[in-house]
Amino acid sequence: MYKTKAYSTASATSRLASTSIPRRDPTGRDAQIEILFCGVCHSDLHTARDQWHDVMPTVYPCVPGHEIVGRVLKIGSGVTKYKVGDVVGVGCLVGADHSCPNCKAGLEQFCPNQTMTYNSPDKHGTAPVTYGGYSTSIVVDERFILRIPSKLDLAGAAPLLCAGITTYSPMRHWGVTKGKKVGVVGLGGLGHMGVKFAHAFGAHTIVFTTSPSKKEDALRLGADEVVISKNADEMKKHAGSFDFMLDCVAAPHDINAYINLLARDGNLTMVGAPDKPLPVSVFGLIFGRRSFSGSPIGGIAETQEMLDFCGNHNITADVEVIPIQKVNEAYERMLKSDVKYRFSIDMASLKSE
Ligand code: NAP
Ligand code: ZN
Repeated sequence: MYKTKAYSTASATSRLASTSIPRRDPTGRDAQIEILFCGVCHSDLHTARDQWHDVMPTVYPCVPGHEIVGRVLKIGSGVTKYKVGDVVGVGCLVGADHSCPNCKAGLEQFCPNQTMTYNSPDKHGTAPVTYGGYSTSIVVDERFILRIPSKLDLAGAAPLLCAGITTYSPMRHWGVTKGKKVGVVGLGGLGHMGVKFAHAFGAHTIVFTTSPSKKEDALRLGADEVVISKNADEMKKHAGSFDFMLDCVAAPHDINAYINLLARDGNLTMVGAPDKPLPVSVFGLIFGRRSFSGSPIGGIAETQEMLDFCGNHNITADVEVIPIQKVNEAYERMLKSDVKYRFSIDMASLKSE
């Protein structure tokens, strides 16, 4: 066991602050990774503030962070995929049972015995729960470590590990391709990646935003059209026309307004995870045989596929790089939808603390 610097929160109402946390020594299939950048996901905020208490109560102290890019520092004797010095990534998962039907299908995100990167019981017993990427190093089983394509900017690559795969996976699942009309709701960290992927897959991509000031950015990111969702007339124009919509909104909102925009057999997938239930009018689903579903991150193989796709198409997140000392401010700005379009923490700032 060794100690590493981190930022943690002590309660749902505390600010994140500097601390020191234990990590296990890398043995067997473990690699010790020096963290270079960590993206700031809205799930970090939901968890730090215990907003998902009924589903996943937060255990304190909590160290968030699951969009990790770093360099391999040390490997256990059983590691075969990586060597010291490799540039690698870690997303939301660091453990699974490898034996359930989901794992066997390469869908570790559905494993009932999975370990999340933070706030999961720590099966190694190093701490009560796992601690995430707001820290200078982490030790992870190589089966949950991803290879980062060499030409990608590292600060912008970090958010691919959650925001990237969370938007890529449902678009692949629901067949987003050329000729499809696709909506992306909420232009934040996830939403802006959704726009990049929908555009790269050749779909006609329409962004729905509550922020008129994001219109130009949406078009630059690859949207073909932008709808200001507060404008009922603009919304009405698209009634019954979408093949697929991806809802990336972090707060409660009127979901029926979007279900009504789906074409026959269209699908609306939630990746946004508001802390309160969303009332759904079943008639919106019945008339049109539409479906409403959800999707969590993606499996390890698909995450690597997504990273390689990004390497080939030169896709990264648009990031605002911040020192860790600004993370509390970043949370407040995230709540005001003031993110362009992902904060990425430069972990060198923590080393010098
Ligand atoms: P984010 O960067 O804060 O973006 C959320 C966006 O939602 C905002 O930028 C805003 O876009 C829109 N929005 C915010 N409040 C709104 C409101 N009251 N009504 C309508 N729109 C609103 O968050 P994120 O990191 O992309 O995460 C989005 C959600 O996905 C979070 O709930 C997060 O926990 C969840 N998530 C889920 C998974 C998964 O596996 N399913 C993975 C990661 C994250 P506009 O300004 O364009 O309106
Ligand atoms: Zn996330």
